Amino acid sequence: MKKISVIIPMYYEEEVANECYSRLTKVMSELAEYTYELIFVDDGSRDKTLTILEDIAKSDDKVKIISFARNFGHQCAVSAGLYHVTGDAAVIIDADLQDPPEIIPEMIKLWEEGNDIVYAKRRSRKGISFLLKLAYKVFYRILYFLSEVDIPLDTGDFRLVGKNVIDVVNSMPEHNKFFRGLFAWTGFKQIPFEYDRDARFAGTTKYPLRKLIKLALDGIIGFSSKPLKVVGQFGIVTIIISIIILLYSLISFFMYRDTITVGWTSLMVAITFFSGVQLLSLWIMSEYIARIYDESKQRPPYIISKKINI
Ligand code: UDP
Ligand code: MG
Repeated sequence: MKKISVIIPMYYEEEVANECYSRLTKVMSELAEYTYELIFVDDGSRDKTLTILEDIAKSDDKVKIISFARNFGHQCAVSAGLYHVTGDAAVIIDADLQDPPEIIPEMIKLWEEGNDIVYAKRRSRKGISFLLKLAYKVFYRILYFLSEVDIPLDTGDFRLVGKNVIDVVNSMPEHNKFFRGLFAWTGFKQIPFEYDRDARFAGTTKYPLRKLIKLALDGIIGFSSKPLKVVGQFGIVTIIISIIILLYSLISFFMYRDTITVGWTSLMVAITFFSGVQLLSLWIMSEYIARIYDESKQRPPYIISKKINI
């Protein structure tokens, strides 16, 4: 009998933990031809998430728990889950039930038909503001444009991946793993599955703007060196602009003898503009350097403080 592992990262999810467990259990236990395990990864929550999970795990040995010593972030939680998979395929799903567990059986069917990765693509999203929706749309398109691999549009981490894919991804030493990119990068056969993303069952988002920006930068920087090349193009454009300013100043000087205004204006423009360009270029480069530094320290991506039923 084949086994399906479900990975559920959780950060401050006490309001949804029980409902998440019961909906997943209902869906998974109805699959007669498969056994399953639910791997809950507690990403350093300080509320009752872990206590609730521990209670559930006492009466259900299909429930496995990995608890982090502190918050290491969603992608690290997914990473830990993938390392502990004992099934033939794994489903990665959010705890807040925005991704309906009820479509898992159809994803399994597509996997059985020979697809190694079945990714859930968002047809629509409920429960988030228009601006955020627009920001997500723009991000996925920028990522698609910049990235050197074809990362599917409007697709989060909700997906089913076969053991062959998991083994490859687990063997990669990099720390800042951006999974939606990595899975596409492996080149295994992948197929989309369209669904409507629900609103959160309870609680609030655990992805504040700061974490979203980090994730977006990890995605872009991890899969593209185009921003670095853009720095060079910036340089060429600014040199051309500076030549135009120089010509303008020379003409004004020789034709109108207008030394003071032309000199001052062109100097100010040149100084402010070029310092802006330089700082921007430095920032782009430092985002890459910070990540190189991070990888070179070789620290583990997360620390597990407790494992239950594993
Ligand atoms: N999450 C996590 N660590 C974090 C932030 C989020 O494990 O630092 C989990 C969270 O509990 C949820 C999933 O990642 O299961 C997605 O987070 P959320 O639903 O808050 O993000 P959104 O859907 O609003 O983008
Ligand atoms: Mg959510």
